[in-house]
Formats: sequence, structure tokens, C-alpha cells
Amino acid sequence: MPAAVVTGSSRGIGRAIALRFAEDGYDVAVNYHTSEDAAESVAAEVRDLGREAVVVGADVSDPEDATRLVEAAADAFGGVDHVVNNAGIDQHVYTEDLAPDDFDRVMDVNVNSAFNVTKAALPFLRESADDPSVTNVSSILAHTGAPIECHYAASKGALLSLTRSHAGDFAPDVRVNAVAPGHVETDMTGDRTPEEEREQLAAIPVDRYGQPADIAEAAAYLRDAGFVTGETLNVNGGELMS
Ligand code: NAP
Repeated sequence: MPAAVVTGSSRGIGRAIALRFAEDGYDVAVNYHTSEDAAESVAAEVRDLGREAVVVGADVSDPEDATRLVEAAADAFGGVDHVVNNAGIDQHVYTEDLAPDDFDRVMDVNVNSAFNVTKAALPFLRESADDPSVTNVSSILAHTGAPIECHYAASKGALLSLTRSHAGDFAPDVRVNAVAPGHVETDMTGDRTPEEEREQLAAIPVDRYGQPADIAEAAAYLRDAGFVTGETLNVNGGELMS
């Protein structure tokens, strides 16, 4: 059966993508960094859907960990057909107070990880008979920027350049796309005052926050869309146009 590696799939958007891929018939490597129990629960849900799961603890910002993750998936499933580079961290700090190490850490986890996992997976993807693909999870902030999280926005912009570069590099063997979510309700966005919520919703034409399943739907589309590569799918309830 075809198999996917979904980084950061213990919680939030990554969890939804792992479950959507399982529903669609894919075995899934569930990756976590700190949330082992949550990752085991996701794996149990994948198995309940009739697919195989392997749970791999790996800090994907570390090239050796990223390689170990991909190899564990290939060992368990006999190959890797799709990669979703979803793992990410956020931090709200104005530039004046932002430490260089914090800037580097966000870039490491959000960008270098995608390079690490994609590079490790490439030989397996090239062997795949399942129209192999890589999908990078960027953000609406790649387009708009964000004063209080410049490093996060920069990391998500870099992911779009990485996406287009890899799409060209790996064609015609492997398609590479990005999904750029707007506000999605997860642990990452849980902290907001009622006033912030009113302001945020006023800027979203569909008048609701995104759910992880909305992004999983986009990831499933990009996995299956054989004529789409080097593209960014913006999924934000219309916020980008407003
Ligand atoms: P989340 O709920 O905070 O989950 C983050 C996931 O990433 C967790 O599974 C976490 O694993 C994993 N992770 C963090 N650092 C890692 C590392 N070094 N190695 C491996 N895994 C790591 O976040 P989310 O909202 O689902 O976000 C998922 C992705 O969507 C991120 O790339 C984020 O930037 C992007 N995004 C989110 C939104 C939004 O509104 N939520 C909007 C745009 C883009 P552990 O729990 O095991 O540490």
C-alpha cells in the first residue's frame, strides 16, 4: 500500500492530515517531537481506519533525526510515496526583543526540517509508483508578513521558495507544492482575547476560523493533483483577499 510521512502529526493540522491520508488508503508514519502519547493515539486512530502506522520520535530540524524518521517509514512500509512537511513552531516577539538564537530555532524547525526530510525521502519518492509528492505547510503570513513574529513569517516565505525550487529540481519525478493556511484552530492559535477573536473573525470573509480538517483536505488535493506542482494553495476563508 502507498505510504506517507507526516511531520509533526501528534497534534493539530498534522494529526488531521495523518488521519485524512489514512482514510484515503495510506499507511502513515506519525512523527512527534515531545508529544509521544498524543502520537500513539493518532497511530491508534490510523489503525482503526484500517491502515498501518509507525510512530517515530524525531526532531526534524536535526538532519540525522529526519533521516531516521524517513528510514523508519521506509522499513515499516517498504517505501515512502508522499511527504507532508508540517512540523512547525511559532513565537510572538517583536524584533527589538527577538534573540538571534530564537530566530534561528524557528528557521531550523520550520524550514531546515523540510529540507532535511525531503532530502532524506527523495530516493524513496523517486522509486514510488504512486505519483509521489511533497507538500510543505506554509502560512498566510508568508504573504502578509507579521511584525510580532517576523522570523515565523520569514520561515514560511522561505518554504514557498523551497517549494518552487524543489518542484523544478525534482520534476518530472516528484511533485512539490505548498499549502498556506490562514487562522486554524489548534494549540498554536489557542491564546486569544475575545477582542482579538472579534478582530480576527471580522477579517475572515467566511466568518469562521479554519479547522485542521480544512487543511487536510487541501493536502489530500495536492497529493492527488497530478498536474499541479510548484504551486501554493491558499486556504484562509478569503482572508488574503480582504
Ligand atoms: P501545533 O498544534 O502547535 O502542532 C505542531 C506540531 O509540530 C506538533 O505535532 C509538534 O510535535 C510538531 N513539532 C514541533 N516542533 C517539532 C520538531 N522539531 N520536530 C518534529 N515535530 C515538531 O501547530 P499547528 O497549528 O497544527 O501547525 C501545524 C503547521 O501549520 C505548522 O507548520 C504551522 O506553522 C502551520 N500553520 C498553522 C496555522 C494555524 O493557524 N494553526 C496557520 C498557518 C500555518 P510535538 O507536540 O510532539 O512536540
